[in-house]
Amino acid sequence: MHDDRDLVEARLKRVLNERIRPALHPDSVPLEVAVWHAPDEPVPVAEGLAATPEPIAVGDAWGAPWGTSWFTVTGTVPERWAGRTVEALLDLGFDEDMPGFQCEGLVYLPDGTPVKGLNPRNQWVRVGAPVKGGERVRLHVEAASNPVILGRHPFQPTRLGDKETAGNDPLYRLTRMDLAVFDETVWQLVMDLEVLGELMHELPVDGARRYEVLRAVNRALDAVDLQDVNGTAAAARAELTGVLSAPAVPSAHRVSAVGHAHIDSAWLWPLRETVRKVARTASNMTALLEDEPDFVFAMSQAQQWAWIKEHRPEVWAKVTKAVASGRFVPAGGMWVESDTNMPGSEAMARQFVHGKRFFIDEFGVDNEEVWLPDTFGFAAGLPQIIKAAGSKRLLTQKISWSQTNTFPHHTFLWEGLDGTRIFTHFPPVDTYNCSMTGGELAHAARNFKDKGVARHSLAPTGWGDGGGGTTREMVAKAARVRDLEGSPAVTWETPAAFFAKAEAEYPHPPVWAGELYLELHRATLTSQAKTKQGNRRSEHLLREAELWAATAAVRAGAPYPYAQLDRIWKTVLLHQFHDILPGSSIAWVHREARRTYELVAEELNAVIDTAQRALAGDASGGTLVFNGAPHARRGVPAGGAARPEAGVRTSAGERDGGGYVLDNGLLRVEVDARGLIVSVHDVAADRETVAPGQVAGLLQLHPDFPNKWDAWDVDEFYRNTGTDLTEADEVSLADGSVRVRRSFGSSSVTQVFTLSGRRLDIDTEVDWHETEKFLKLAFPLDVHADRYASESQYGHVFRATHTNTSWEAAKFEACNHRFVHVEEPGWGVALVNDSTYGHDVTRTAGDAGTTTTVRVSLLRAPRFPDPETDQGVHRFRHALVPGATIGDAVREGYVVNLPERRVPGDAEVAPLVTVDDDAVVVTAVKLADDESGDVIVRFHESRGGRARATLTPGFPVAQVVETDLLERPTAEPRRHDGPVPLTLRPFELVTLRLKRA
Ligand SMILES: [Zn+2]
Repeated sequence: MHDDRDLVEARLKRVLNERIRPALHPDSVPLEVAVWHAPDEPVPVAEGLAATPEPIAVGDAWGAPWGTSWFTVTGTVPERWAGRTVEALLDLGFDEDMPGFQCEGLVYLPDGTPVKGLNPRNQWVRVGAPVKGGERVRLHVEAASNPVILGRHPFQPTRLGDKETAGNDPLYRLTRMDLAVFDETVWQLVMDLEVLGELMHELPVDGARRYEVLRAVNRALDAVDLQDVNGTAAAARAELTGVLSAPAVPSAHRVSAVGHAHIDSAWLWPLRETVRKVARTASNMTALLEDEPDFVFAMSQAQQWAWIKEHRPEVWAKVTKAVASGRFVPAGGMWVESDTNMPGSEAMARQFVHGKRFFIDEFGVDNEEVWLPDTFGFAAGLPQIIKAAGSKRLLTQKISWSQTNTFPHHTFLWEGLDGTRIFTHFPPVDTYNCSMTGGELAHAARNFKDKGVARHSLAPTGWGDGGGGTTREMVAKAARVRDLEGSPAVTWETPAAFFAKAEAEYPHPPVWAGELYLELHRATLTSQAKTKQGNRRSEHLLREAELWAATAAVRAGAPYPYAQLDRIWKTVLLHQFHDILPGSSIAWVHREARRTYELVAEELNAVIDTAQRALAGDASGGTLVFNGAPHARRGVPAGGAARPEAGVRTSAGERDGGGYVLDNGLLRVEVDARGLIVSVHDVAADRETVAPGQVAGLLQLHPDFPNKWDAWDVDEFYRNTGTDLTEADEVSLADGSVRVRRSFGSSSVTQVFTLSGRRLDIDTEVDWHETEKFLKLAFPLDVHADRYASESQYGHVFRATHTNTSWEAAKFEACNHRFVHVEEPGWGVALVNDSTYGHDVTRTAGDAGTTTTVRVSLLRAPRFPDPETDQGVHRFRHALVPGATIGDAVREGYVVNLPERRVPGDAEVAPLVTVDDDAVVVTAVKLADDESGDVIVRFHESRGGRARATLTPGFPVAQVVETDLLERPTAEPRRHDGPVPLTLRPFELVTLRLKRA
């Protein structure tokens, strides 16, 4: 037979587009439309419903950037439609190609009952099925005129990203506001033809199945009368029943579809808009669940659930009802889908504490799955934290975005830095916005790396970010591919049901050890420096606030601010969302974040001050130093207060050949006339720290214009060119420190070098007015090292200093917490920081072997999505610690992040708990969240070795019990009879609950 495949495929495309789809709504009448524009920010629903609207017509412009407009649509169902299915079609001016990134609406009945969301791919509201004819229709639409930030020409700088700079020009034009007859049979025909057409394109062209489908499609098109599609759709469908009822082959890939709407908690819209995006999507999904008995929808991020509960009680009522049915499922167990590279140990733990607790308290659901489809890489500390939270499985697809290397597994065990293994799945569909196309399903099956030993994968299905979630079309398609020859077999399922099957079929999956590094979005470790500093400061202030408030409660009977700390923790956790802390949101989000962090600091400083004054005794009795760090400092015990011992004195003088010398008997530092560090001599070890012929404390400025994703990405070629900032405006000596001023481009910088014990402190203040530049601070070290350590959650990870393989080369920018450490056997150097995360470590070959250069990333200046990113004054604190072990690096990292606090008083404060081995680091001392008054102590082995230590409570204890992160017992309580002996394996994390006697 002649091959007419191309001809039939082209026929299908044209007839579907030009004749069959237009017949979905064969008759329509216009609705009357009126509108009230809220003067500024969104108003409560009752106020929007009660407002007096003005007439507006289809074709009229509406919607200033970030505005809210309340549309009222009214009409009457024509009598001639009696018995038909009728829908309101409300097109606010949508672009169907950008679901989630433009205007949206939520439809209400006049009594305030939410009906469903309006989105580019979801513009219908069911009026009646069937209608009687003559019904009056009145609907209200709360429409948000959110501007398109990421448009058809992406990554262009725009002022639309902040209400303060966005202007008032209307952005949208009302396109259609009609009542229309919905022809269900035509819609089903469209679904049949889409599924078969998409399937056909994925089938082998030399296989019989492809031609069976092709012939059936051709017969169906023959059966369509192009002048009477509605009258002939049923006959056309009849031609397709044969090919649609052929069952899947036994080896077909199995897809667990999970209804999903990935909603960024803030990104190209402010936090307040996410509250509404979530309400719209949840309204859509509760409505779809009512219509579709097989459908299952999962929603993550306890914060988003809490927003619905607080702000939209009518939507919350529908959600809780749907949860009770078991088909609207809380997914994961974190407060938000946070970044996991940058959050500190305790914050990462609290993401799970607050996320899991919300789902447990509200619904009795204790999930074992972690749901992080979109997070930019996964730190090696995470598996232990997941397990300590009582979970055991992880889902993400983000690693498929890596630019260089293809990850070898889709289902595997992920082993963290302490050896904990977590069952992990990467959906091979490679998207968290699956729309159930044949192309996506075929890609999942083909792409799945574990074929032959496993058969199941998960597909998060639905439009995210305000696209409205899963559509009825996706559900209709899934029904057709439930058991269809040539297609993977699709079933709606909960994440837990998927994981149970995946684990059962694959008892010995392969293992991936260490971090899951995303080979993309590396600049998220640096962009929006003040957001990152706000996070780092808040994390350490929270540590201090809990420690001192708990100490004051136990020692002085002071009230413990449970509710206040709970609220502040949730604020800080929210800002760790994967587009806020990474710096990839619009200007509005970061402007608000900076203010929020200021308020957090004010509140926490007040909590700390109140607690310390309650402990310090007579304020006229001199000055006490409070040490909130986990190590004793200058004679002040960890977690206690005392009068400190004096520190070593620094002598400062001029250097031969220009510049200055600082010497405190431990370190001798030479700064040359250009203000560059030419020598850091470790006196005790008689060893030079700076690599021969090089200079440390060197600022390096690189051009930084990535190919796309400006705030997210730094591309490797940035290193090809750069300028060393060696010209100084001023080099001077002041108060025993060397002060250097430089100017470059439109910016200036002041650096102050100070000796402090074994540390060379480097304070850097930059007045930054560059665009598309990357500022690094470099320390070439005379250390021969194949690898270096970077602090992560509850431990550290090693990375290579060389680029032997593409995997190592791809890690050209990586994350640290408080320190980076390099060493040769017996001698190492730490570089600690108070707020930077991005860094790179390279090796340099010279005549005398290789040396190691550590560079920290200070500032970037991308212009998208915030055109003014990082403009202004920034202050960073770093310290170089020659002769440092990992233990020293841990300790000094705390020192620069937890400055001592001087408080008037005379009563020395003994710590609530003391641990007699510095390898064991206490990360939290607090009162139990259940308000029982029990003291919670969390600690971990910090050096990667074994530790035997004794924890001594500084108060009478009746009982000690080991708990999980949620403070739930995991072992039998033991009667307490004195100090608690501890045995810890490398990086082991332990939480103890101490019941007070
Ligand atoms: Zn996201």
